This record gives sequence, C-alpha cells and structure tokens, in this order.
Amino acid sequence: MITLALSKGRIYDDSMPLLRAAGVEVLEDPETSRKLILPTSRPDLRVVLVRASDVPTYVQHGGADLGVAGLDVLLEHGDGLYRPLDLKIARCRMSVAVRQDFDYAAAVKQGSRLRVATKYTQIARQHFAAKGVHVDLIKLYGSMELAPLTGLADAIVDLVSTGSTLKANHLLEVERIMDISSRLVVNPAALKLKREPLRALIDAFEAAVGATA
Ligand code: ATP
Ligand code: MG
Repeated sequence: MITLALSKGRIYDDSMPLLRAAGVEVLEDPETSRKLILPTSRPDLRVVLVRASDVPTYVQHGGADLGVAGLDVLLEHGDGLYRPLDLKIARCRMSVAVRQDFDYAAAVKQGSRLRVATKYTQIARQHFAAKGVHVDLIKLYGSMELAPLTGLADAIVDLVSTGSTLKANHLLEVERIMDISSRLVVNPAALKLKREPLRALIDAFEAAVGATA
C-alpha cells in the first residue's frame, strides 16, 4: 500500500488534476465525507488528509510514503525529506509587508531594530540575517495582517498571492522574499522499500506537471 498525505483546501484541489492526469481518482469527496483516509481508484494507493503543516511530519516519520506540501511549510520544517519535484501548484510568494505609513526603507537604512510578526520564523530569521537587519521575531499562528495595525509589530512576513488581503488592511508589500509553490516530498526509506511503485508515481506526477503547466 502507498499512502499519500494531502491537506484539505487549495493543495487538495490543485493536486486533483495532477492525480487524475496520473490516472488516479480519489473515490470520496473530503468536503462531504468525514473520513480522513480516502480510497482511490488504485487499490494500492490511498490518500490521508492532514493539516498542511503536518504533511512533512507524516512523510518524515513514515505515516505517509509521500505528500504534497508548500515550500513555506518545508522550509519551516527543516531537513529529512526527499524533495523530488516542484508541482507548481498553490503558487504564491513570501513577502515582507508594513503599514502604508511606515517607512521600511528608512528603518532598514538607519539600522533600526525591527519587530516582525510571522508564522514563518525560520524563513524570516534567515531573510533578515542575510540582509544584516536586526529583528525581534514575534511568532503568530494566523491573522498576521493585524499585527502592524495594532502596534504589535512594525512588519509581517506572510504569504501573498493577489495582494488583496494586504490592500484591504492598508498594508504595503515592501519586499519579496521568495516564490512559493507546492512540492512532492517522499520518505527516503519508503523510496528504498517501495522503489518501483513510488518511482512510477513520481514519474507520473512529473509528466502531469509538464502537461498541465
Ligand atoms: P492550516 O490551515 O493547517 O494552518 P495553512 O493555512 O498553511 O495551514 P492552506 O491555507 O491550505 O493551509 O495553505 C496550504 C499551502 O498553500 C501553504 O503552505 C502555501 O504553500 C500555499 N498557500 C497559502 N496561501 C496561499 C495563497 N494565498 N495563494 C496560493 N497558495 C497559498
Ligand atoms: Mg490558510
């Protein structure tokens, strides 16, 4: 049996066309079913539904053989996973944003210590260290946009796709840290034990990415 870890929502939705192109149908709709283990048209392949940020943990510790996770989630998680393929889905960017009345460039130039609120502390730490900017990181789990508006922080590091959430909250994207997309990750031990079926599935995904890109 091969177990594929997906998270509900955008990653699940964007993975379906790739699975379909790889000849796999998921036999139950996660939006109407309460099941967390979904059978597929391939008797030897099942899908498990986990939190987006739990996908690397499942794959690393063998709860799933492979999974789909955003680059943001993978960078925050750290090493330990084989990452063979960029699926080019759930695309967005990681950016720095500030209140429209905050002069970010001047603050950086003056060498001010910045208070930065984010869910992505590893990515933020690495980014500001590389720029030589001193930051106090404030860990949040959601609604990052609120932090600069309430005085909790000078800046946020968050995912941006259209920019409309930032705009609605009078925030300005002042720096693009990196482009983000979702990646296929594989448990290295599983790849050894189930080499042929996993390799075939990875190859099918790869062909599907090429075809739908
Ligand atoms: P959870 O809801 O479990 O806290 P999450 O909010 O990170 O996790 P999703 O919102 O489903 O879960 O996001 C899953 C992935 O999709 C993210 O890790 C990121 O890679 C990508 N993503 C997040 N926001 C966007 C967006 N606005 N546009 C495109 N892709 C996005
Ligand atoms: Mg979300």
